[in-house]
This record gives sequence, structure tokens and C-alpha cells, in this order.
Amino acid sequence: MTQPTDYPSIAALGKALRDRRVSALELATDALQAVHNGPDPHLFLHVDDALTLAQARAADALLAQGKAGPLAGIPIAHKDLFVTRGWRTTAASRMLADYVSPFDATVVERLEQAGTVSLGKLSCDEFAMGSGNENSAFGALQNPHDPDRVPGGSSGGSAAAVAAGLVLGTTGTDSGGSVRQPAAYCGVSGIKPTYGTVSRYGVIAYASSLDQAGPLARSAADLVPLLDTMSGFDIQDSTSLETCNGVANAPGRITAAYDHCRGLFGSGGGQPLAGLRIGVPREFFGAGLATAVADAIEAALRVFESLGARRVDISLPLTRLAIPAYYVIAPAEASSNLARFDGVHFGYRTPQYQDLPDMIRRSRSEALGPEVRKRILVGTYVLSHGYYDAYYLQAQRVRRMVANDYRQALDQACDVIMGPVTPNVARRRGDHDHDPIADWLGDIYTLGANLAGLPALSIPCGLGGPAKHLPIGLQIIGRHFDEGRLLALADCFQQHTDWHQHTPRHVA
Ligand code: GLN
Repeated sequence: MTQPTDYPSIAALGKALRDRRVSALELATDALQAVHNGPDPHLFLHVDDALTLAQARAADALLAQGKAGPLAGIPIAHKDLFVTRGWRTTAASRMLADYVSPFDATVVERLEQAGTVSLGKLSCDEFAMGSGNENSAFGALQNPHDPDRVPGGSSGGSAAAVAAGLVLGTTGTDSGGSVRQPAAYCGVSGIKPTYGTVSRYGVIAYASSLDQAGPLARSAADLVPLLDTMSGFDIQDSTSLETCNGVANAPGRITAAYDHCRGLFGSGGGQPLAGLRIGVPREFFGAGLATAVADAIEAALRVFESLGARRVDISLPLTRLAIPAYYVIAPAEASSNLARFDGVHFGYRTPQYQDLPDMIRRSRSEALGPEVRKRILVGTYVLSHGYYDAYYLQAQRVRRMVANDYRQALDQACDVIMGPVTPNVARRRGDHDHDPIADWLGDIYTLGANLAGLPALSIPCGLGGPAKHLPIGLQIIGRHFDEGRLLALADCFQQHTDWHQHTPRHVA
């Protein structure tokens, strides 16, 4: 059987496909079998062999014509928040349990045009609200490194599928950390680009001013062609960017910037990163950070220093306030976005009701899960007359101040910011069942990049937990549109370390 993980990288598998040493069809056939035999029955929410094999045949046709790009024939899968023709799109909610979209999200369409082969739709937290993938209406997921632990959320399925070796890349979305946090917990690489880089068209909206899609893969090098294909201006998304710092936001931008930075790093000899200033926010290392995580980040920073980078102590004083600001703004936007699920336009409708208001109330109460209902209530409250100024407006002010702190640090003190992704390794499943706020606190290091719209990635940098078997993530945050540099830095780290090659025991 040929597995995607038999190849060290997307580039290597892409070459094998172009050289016709393996066909997209045999790869997809074997990958589907692995998906059907996978240890976690809840990982995929919809698999359709016929649809996957049709894409594989199309990829083989592209390859036969010699027209194939770097992603032709590469097995991937999508978070079930991206709408797809053919495959159901549920957002892991009973509300959309049977929903099939009449169109593809721009991201899905672009990846398909590039010849990728989708194995189906991956579970996530319901409407992307959560940190452990336990909010899916269709069953909690396992972390491939330890089935008793969560894979993270909300793109938990996207991280777990890569870690389990089922696919080489996945799509995820990140409104407050949902690509980076599960990437960290599952020991894979993931990037959230600058807000506006990737089209949100066809991504089921959670918090529109924060939502941004990004890929997950085993290494930074693998993220490059995925992000490049996903990104680019899209007229269908009003917040999509036409240009980035004077450069067109078009496919090719990420690869060009990445290659440029790698060239610069390559010219530095034994000190490839000479001149690079790494800002290390002291607020990221306070109470609550597990020792194993702090130690792993320290060790990673020493690797960067040994490559010539300089470490700069910086302050992001409002770090703690990012949590209350996000948990006001995101629910406010969610309460508005989710108003469309009313039993009339989309999705579930209760079978028994007295009148229209009763039908709407019952449909929403029966089909939306507790976390989603909680956020709709919070959001409706903070937007209501009399509380708007006290909560929503105040949160917007804090958001601007948090963004200013990041801007000041990145303008004046450093080129990139590094720190942990999460305060701890993946928690046990069910651990936060009785403490709704505990998960929210775990978002402390990731929210800032969303509030400020900055690009940020997570790469594996160590192991922790009782048996030293649970991955730890390093976060790198950059200036707007600096994805190429972030990915080149991450690649440089991965050239000198092998944390990204650590696979779960049953996959090895
Ligand atoms: N964990 C955060 C939350 O629960 C982030 C979610 C996200 O990025 N979609 O809202």
C-alpha cells in the first residue's frame, strides 16, 4: 500500500507523481482505505469514495498532459467549515447535518483546480467555536499522539488527519487560534495568514472580522504551496485584499517571498539569520505557562540564536485583555452571523411547532449545541441597547490598543515575535467539561494575532506531558503580509531540528 507519508514532503510526492512513479488514483485508493480503517471513527464527517476517485482521475489526466503544478495528485482534506459541492457541509452542527452546498468555497475550488485530491470533510468544533474538538455534534476526536487527549480545536480534525499520516495537507480556519492551537497539540505545522489574504467566500462565518483560513501540513515547506494556492484576491469576499504592500495578492506571492527569504538566509553562511531580531514578549512567560512548554520555547530560541538571530525582550502589556476583548467581539459577530440559521433559510427545522416564532425558537434550541447557544446569548447581550457601549464598544477599543502594541513592537523593536502557542500540552478529553472558561484562557497567546490581523504560524518544537509524548508548538508572529519570511524562518528551524518528524507511535 502506498501512503502519503511514505514520502518526506509534498515536493517529493509531487515529483514522484509527475515522474509517473505513482499515480494519483492508486494513492487516493490506498489513502481512502486508510481513512476507512482509521482509529478515530469521528475524524471524517463525510467521505465519498466516488468523488475522491474522480478527482484523482482528473489529477492523473493533468499529470499525463505534463501540465501539473506542485499539488497535482496530492491527497488533502477540508475542515467541514468550507462549503463543498458533493460532500456535505455541516460545520459539525446538527443544524446543518444534511446540508449540501450548491457551490464550492473559493479555497476548495482553487485547491481542486491545482489538482489536489480531497479525501473528504474533517470534523471540527461546532461552527468553529472551541479549543478541543469536543464541541462537535458528531463526536469528540482523539489526539493521534494519545487517544485520551484532545487534538485541539477548532480545526482539530485538520491537525489530527495530518498527524495520523492520512493526508499531506488540510485546510483549517483560525479566528482566535484554531489553526495554530491544534497544530501545536498534534505536532504539525500550521499558518494563519494576514487577514484578507485568503478568501472567506464559502467559509461558514463565525466571527467575520477575525476569521481567516490557513493550511496545516507536516512542515513549513509543505505549507508553502498550499497557502500559495489558497490565497489571492477574490471579488466575492469584500474583505479580500487586492494588494499586499504593493504586491498583488495573487497565487505565486507566497512562494516568491518564501524563496526570496530563503535566498537571503542562505547567503549568511554559518549565521544564516544574522541581523534578525526576535521579539520575545515577557507577558507570554508569566504564571500559567507549563514548565515543559517554557523550556521547549527557550530551547527553540537558542536554536535561532545559534543561527545568528538576536533575541530582544519586548512587552505586549495588554496580552491578558485580549481574552475578554475576543470573547466579546467574536460572540457578537457570531450572534449576527448565526441568525441566518432560523429553520427557514437553511438547515434543521423542528417537526412540531405552533407558530413562526415558536418554530424558530425550537429549531435553534434543538439543533445548536451548548457552546454555540452560549456564545449567541453572550453576543446578543453585548450588542443590546444599554450594554453596547459598556461591552462591545469597549472591546473594540481594547482590540485597537492590542493591535497598536503589536504594531509598535514590530515597527520599532523586532522583525518577528516568538513565543508559545498554548500554555500547556493537549489536555485530557473531558477535562474542561465543568469549567467553561478554562478553555477560553488557553487562547491567551494566539488571540493577539487575530485581533491585529497579523500572520502567525505554529511549528513543533518539543515534547511534554507525563510520558514526554505530547507535542509543543512554537509560535512565530510577523508583520502584515510577511508570511514568506515566517515560513522561511520556520523552514530554517526545521532544517536544523527534527521535532516536525516526530510521529505518533502507531504511525511510525
Ligand atoms: N478557541 C477559540 C474559540 O473557542 C478560537 C476558535 C477559532 O479560532 N475558530 O473561540
